Amino acid sequence: MKKCYMCGKGELKKKMIPYKLYGVEVGKYKGEKCTKCGEVFYSEEEFDRMTKKVKELGLWGLETKTKVTKVGNSLDIRINKKIVEFLNIKQGEEVTVYPESKNKLVITV
Ligand SMILES: [Zn+2]
Repeated sequence: MKKCYMCGKGELKKKMIPYKLYGVEVGKYKGEKCTKCGEVFYSEEEFDRMTKKVKELGLWGLETKTKVTKVGNSLDIRINKKIVEFLNIKQGEEVTVYPESKNKLVITV
């Protein structure tokens, strides 16, 4: 039995592990899951298959950097086109914004 590369305590068990990105099911992939910490390791081959599927689903590159700008007394954050399309947000739509922690902002559509 292989020991976990992350915690060094658990054992790695081979299984099909479902992979989800931004709440979208990407598929099930052959991987090894730690019995202790739950960390998942995929082979390079499976990772390539996964990446291909992620691109097909239009989930690739959704995470981007954006600059905070000033508009009047408020600050403005631009949301790029890919995310707009993914979330299907329209101009003028009302969204809810709240801090989840000191360094994480959540926008709920
Ligand atoms: Zn582990």
